[in-house]
Amino acid sequence: MFQFSVSAASGGFTVVIDPGHGGKDSGTKGATCLEKDIVLAIGLKLGELIASNQPDVRIIYTRKTDVFIELNQRAIIANKAKADLFISLHADHSDAPGIRGACTFTLGQNRTSENMAIAKRENAVILLEDNYKQRYEGFDPNSAESYIMFEFMQENYMDQSVKFASMVQDKFRRSGRIDRSVRQDVFLVLRCTSMPSALIETGFLSNADEEQYLKSSAGQEQVAMDIYRGFADFRAHLQRKSTSAASMVKPEPQDHPAEIAKPDSTRVERRDSAKVREGIVYKVQILASDRKLTPSSKMLKGQEADFYQEKGFYKYTVGTYTRFNDADRKRKELSARFPDCFVVAWKEGKKMPIESAKTEESK
Ligand SMILES: [Zn+2]
Repeated sequence: MFQFSVSAASGGFTVVIDPGHGGKDSGTKGATCLEKDIVLAIGLKLGELIASNQPDVRIIYTRKTDVFIELNQRAIIANKAKADLFISLHADHSDAPGIRGACTFTLGQNRTSENMAIAKRENAVILLEDNYKQRYEGFDPNSAESYIMFEFMQENYMDQSVKFASMVQDKFRRSGRIDRSVRQDVFLVLRCTSMPSALIETGFLSNADEEQYLKSSAGQEQVAMDIYRGFADFRAHLQRKSTSAASMVKPEPQDHPAEIAKPDSTRVERRDSAKVREGIVYKVQILASDRKLTPSSKMLKGQEADFYQEKGFYKYTVGTYTRFNDADRKRKELSARFPDCFVVAWKEGKKMPIESAKTEESK
């Protein structure tokens, strides 16, 4: 389903290069080219530069050919590889043909309407995926609310992600590119990665000059070189940090969502052993996290919650109800603090679709 290319032996640093889009998803379009082709070419060139200059780095590509890969699968590849850095490559579009330049996003909510437009476009690819509603838990790339509801998973890597992003932007600027700065918004592809990560909008295909630049081999090489230089700076920065102080902390391995590796697993573990009678029970799910949260975590907003594990995520729930209406009442109450919370149903320890649960309950 996806390509998994590994080059060179691991020297302790793994980078994932993620050329955006692919296959049936062409990304944005220039007058004479497609985003998916441009970013693949840049990604391959970037990989070559890293391989030849830093042969100890393990390089993994989410794709090396023109294939379609789901957004969450890209994060799964990176998490499974326990990567140290995730670089997603894209090209931008604007209705104003004069707009040009490069910017680098990290995950965050520092939103502007312009960022939002970019995030919407890059996230819209999930509409091409089957079952995207289940897979992304109701996330609708076109709904502003979906973005507001977003809960952070990347908090721990924020500083490093921004560091990398600013090093890349610095190199773009030195190459004479227009620096559209480091930005933050909700990009699904970054959301589930468990490492520093950034999404680079390498330039505008809607600008004639920039399209020519990004289409040309020389332009692609320069973009790849700028990113490579940012990468080299970032690595040097990490090495300085780890030798100068013991402050460089990687999360505990058990908190690493490498278990995500089994995306189709439907195995569910439940922690709460509260005795509930046989039959259907309902709970209100308030959020999902790629790592186990402490009870004082600000993500829980002071709410006491149980959790279960599913597909590599810790999913937090409130309450146990035997009637849907009671659970739904709780959901309404919680929605002030957790706007995207929803009711989940269980039968004999197994999660079941909510509609089937309601039908069964009404019998
Ligand atoms: Zn894109």
